Amino acid sequence: MFVDSVRQFREKELMPLEHEFLLNGRLDTETRTGLEEKARHQGFWAIEAREEVGGQDIGMLGTCLVAEELFKHPAMFEFGGSPEPVLYECNDEQKQRFLLPIVKEDLRCCYAFTEPSGGSDVAAIRTTAVREGGRWIINGAKTFISHAERADFVILFASTDRGQGAKGVTCFLVEKGTPGFSLSRPIPTMGDDWEPYELTFDNCVVPDTNRLGEVGGGWNLVVEQLTHGRLKIAAYQLGIAQRCIDIAVEWARNRITWGKPIASRQAVQWMLADSVTELDAARLLTYRAACLHDRGEHCEIEAFKAKLYATEMAQRVTDRCLQVLGGLGYSRELPIQSFYRQVRVWRIGHGTSEIHRWMIARDLLGPSARG
Ligand SMILES: Cc1cc2nc3c(=O)[nH]c(=O)nc-3n(C[C@H](O)[C@H](O)[C@H](O)COP(=O)(O)OP(=O)(O)OC[C@H]3O[C@@H](n4cnc5c(N)ncnc54)[C@H](O)[C@@H]3O)c2cc1C
Repeated sequence: MFVDSVRQFREKELMPLEHEFLLNGRLDTETRTGLEEKARHQGFWAIEAREEVGGQDIGMLGTCLVAEELFKHPAMFEFGGSPEPVLYECNDEQKQRFLLPIVKEDLRCCYAFTEPSGGSDVAAIRTTAVREGGRWIINGAKTFISHAERADFVILFASTDRGQGAKGVTCFLVEKGTPGFSLSRPIPTMGDDWEPYELTFDNCVVPDTNRLGEVGGGWNLVVEQLTHGRLKIAAYQLGIAQRCIDIAVEWARNRITWGKPIASRQAVQWMLADSVTELDAARLLTYRAACLHDRGEHCEIEAFKAKLYATEMAQRVTDRCLQVLGGLGYSRELPIQSFYRQVRVWRIGHGTSEIHRWMIARDLLGPSARG
């Protein structure tokens, strides 16, 4: 029933904006904010947030089903009010300042891990936080940080002990307006409406009360954050692929060449048959990992497999569906080209496909995989 109501929201509120989104490559901030408010009024708020903080707590599988439905529209619209998982590590005082205002009001945050020196290698973190009495002095830069322009604070990962690699990473919550912290520049990308930012920290001073979790405990927080994000990303691909297949099937039935619908041509049938089979496989991998997550079981490797397969599946499916549509597939009048460009990023963000394969292989092969 809940997913049905999300579908109705998509059809009634999002679909009328699709043409404008495709032509302009973006939804303006006013339109996006208006949609978020409409969604909130209709009960789509804090759906992922835990009950203990006043959320609807629909669980990981529920979250995936909603994400799948919403991502049938190319605007990457999501409901607000759900904190990033790491924020449940907030102490009582931090809960009042950072966690609860996300759920009860409309406080926003972004998540900053990647640096110009690299995103895959945690030991490459160059941003440092040096303790000075009851405060920390932060220096460095982050890059490709999504949603930074609308964020009220940043969940920042910095090195507090360079010699310790991943064990020397600590998490801080840095509010917008803190002296020394600035958004240096937006980074234009090939995706519609997606402009991450570079952030600079120049002798930025934050009190120790803004440290999240233990000193050196940042990496463990990242792992939890990334697993949750990877499952959502896998679910986005399901919605994207389903929408492209639906468009391609409809087109194949009606497009006539040499007196017959292209649906009767084996070359077209095989593209669609492969697409729908791979989509089903991705769906099962994603739902399985989400169910394990909901049961409180380890699902890190299952999340790697689901995101790896689903993102590569979506790349193949958007490509094939675009091909079935011919020239129309390439035009901005249909969403396939937008999806085609959007899906490329999901093989990079939240860990690249190569790093995913590496982690899956390490789990499979044990210590011998380390050479
Ligand atoms: C649109 C967009 C939004 C983003 N949003 C955010 C965000 O909000 N917050 C954030 O922190 N980051 C964000 N990122 C950054 C993203 O997480 C990183 O780009 C990603 O982790 C890869 O890091 P990198 O780009 O530094 O590539 P690198 O780590 O430099 O890797 C380059 C290439 O080398 C390969 N490679 C690296 N090491 C190995 C290895 N050991 N074995 C095999 N292959 C290897 C990689 O797979 C990749 O193909 C975003 C990126 C984009 C494009």
